[in-house]
Amino acid sequence: MMFPECPSDRDDCLFEEIGRQTTLAYYAPIYDRAGNNTNPDRNVTSYRLYCHTCGRRWNASRCGSDAPTFGLVQHGKVISEE
Ligand SMILES: [Zn+2]
Repeated sequence: MMFPECPSDRDDCLFEEIGRQTTLAYYAPIYDRAGNNTNPDRNVTSYRLYCHTCGRRWNASRCGSDAPTFGLVQHGKVISEE
């Protein structure tokens, strides 16, 4: 899932992505004979999401091309993760 669930169960959330940063390690591709890369990019991308509809904020991060994880933020602290 690209975006977190809305605690208010809304389906009209509009997410602003803020402060994207990605680590910069180099992962040299290592291929098997079938052409699969056995050493995929594992750099971590972190950012924040602000919802213009419900006013909530999340911290988000993902590793390589994995699905992102989200932490709901309230008063500057992460109160739940998904
Ligand atoms: Zn929302």
